[in-house]
Amino acid sequence: MADNIIYNELKAIFGIDRVLCEKEELLCYSYDATTKEFLPDYVVFPFDVNEISSLIKLCIKHKLPVVGRGAGSGFSGGSLPLKGGVVISFTKMNRILELDEENMFVTVEAGVINGELKLYLTDKGYFYPPDPASYEFSTIGGNVAECAGGPRAVKYGVTKDFVASIRAVTGAGKIIETGSKTVKDVAGYNLTQLFVGSEGTLGLFSNITLKILPKPASNSLILASFGNVKDGFNAAISLLKLRNRPSMLEFMDELSIKSVKNYFKSDLIDANNINGSFLFIIEADGTEEEVALSIRQYTDILNGFSPSFLFSSHSDKEKSAIMDARKAISPSLRIYGNFKINNDIAVPVNKIVEMLSFLRLVSEKHGIPVINFGHFGDGNIHVNIMLNKNDKDMVARGEEAKSEILRKTVDLGGSISGEHGIGLIKKEFMKLKYGEYYIDLMKNVKKAFDPYNILNPGKIFD
Ligand SMILES: Cc1cc2nc3c(=O)[nH]c(=O)nc-3n(C[C@H](O)[C@H](O)[C@H](O)COP(=O)(O)OP(=O)(O)OC[C@H]3O[C@@H](n4cnc5c(N)ncnc54)[C@H](O)[C@@H]3O)c2cc1C
Repeated sequence: MADNIIYNELKAIFGIDRVLCEKEELLCYSYDATTKEFLPDYVVFPFDVNEISSLIKLCIKHKLPVVGRGAGSGFSGGSLPLKGGVVISFTKMNRILELDEENMFVTVEAGVINGELKLYLTDKGYFYPPDPASYEFSTIGGNVAECAGGPRAVKYGVTKDFVASIRAVTGAGKIIETGSKTVKDVAGYNLTQLFVGSEGTLGLFSNITLKILPKPASNSLILASFGNVKDGFNAAISLLKLRNRPSMLEFMDELSIKSVKNYFKSDLIDANNINGSFLFIIEADGTEEEVALSIRQYTDILNGFSPSFLFSSHSDKEKSAIMDARKAISPSLRIYGNFKINNDIAVPVNKIVEMLSFLRLVSEKHGIPVINFGHFGDGNIHVNIMLNKNDKDMVARGEEAKSEILRKTVDLGGSISGEHGIGLIKKEFMKLKYGEYYIDLMKNVKKAFDPYNILNPGKIFD
């Protein structure tokens, strides 16, 4: 039963329609893509920054945690109300506020869906490149809070490379505006970038200004597979050295290839006996002429490394079949287990082959399938440890495998999370990478923004 005093104060800010407190309503805000669940005490839906600020002041007064939530699609538990309190859902702050065509920026409310922004911009001849596979439902606020990446990061960068300015409310209830619509801005510390990837622990964003680009006129795809990992690696490295590097350089390992072929039926995939140890989906974008030139150049380079299969496509039908096959990897993995431990490690690109060999050893050692695919140009490997959730011993071995993989990642100079964030899923592993002093520095930064520790407590570190 909701505490009447708090409920009445929430109603005074949001009105009766924008406060939830019944269990069956709260359940809808208790989970994300991790399959973990924590029930909030209340859910509220602000319309603007002043309401967010009023909420924070109320939460300070009642010592209530407050947890931001976009679409709840996170893979690290960021939007889960670990310690109860108020979930603040940004779904009603979903307006595109300003398209500044002269300066090439767009300002949006935090709850705007990435894919809706893309559509809006495409119609007007512009382009916002960050493209997490969740773009059709994840929000810009959630993307900024996690610094979401995606396939096109190899050419364009990730969310942080596009955030110019953020209006946020700190844990003290203060409204601040960071950054500016300028390319150059070195006035003091870069608080914009501190907010990017802060997982709702430093401030709640109301408005975000993003850099935009002219829309590429055209794109083409190449599908290339290699029987030998080393050849595939060398071919991909050669593509990355080009001035006109690919706008996408996705890879799948042998088990991912088999899994998709088994799951996803398409004329293109079925008609060609695609196999190998390393498969790449490569995109060129630009003007028609640039794309044609790049595809010729990429094909020549790839042919120099004896691919077992090479196919390029400019037709919309084939391109969507290829991208649908890419999207089918995750669901196709269910044949390997009904539960997975999903890791999004990133290693320096030149360590990818070593990491893949290590992953094979871990898989053999623990007797569990470890299936890998990801974004080659970012060294970002999605490592899927596939398990049977009813087999307790197997799940324990999976957890051990995860620890070994994260330790190796750090040994190779990589990051335990390339794009999904730490949340509550990986916080115990932060010490693999950072010493006590470093973590204390981060905690002190949090204290400066959130003196009462009410913003998403228990995430990133305890
Ligand atoms: C099928 C699928 C595919 C995915 N593919 C990718 C991918 O390719 N790349 C990738 O990077 N991720 C991917 N993800 C993970 C996820 O979609 C991203 O992390 C995304 O950025 C989360 O956005 P969201 O709106 O769902 O945020 P949520 O999950 O709701 O929240 C994520 C974090 O942001 C905080 N937050 C949300 N809104 C705000 C705000 N306004 N102010 C401050 N903090 C806020 C939350 O507190 C939480 O810590 C995928 C997820 C799924 C389910």
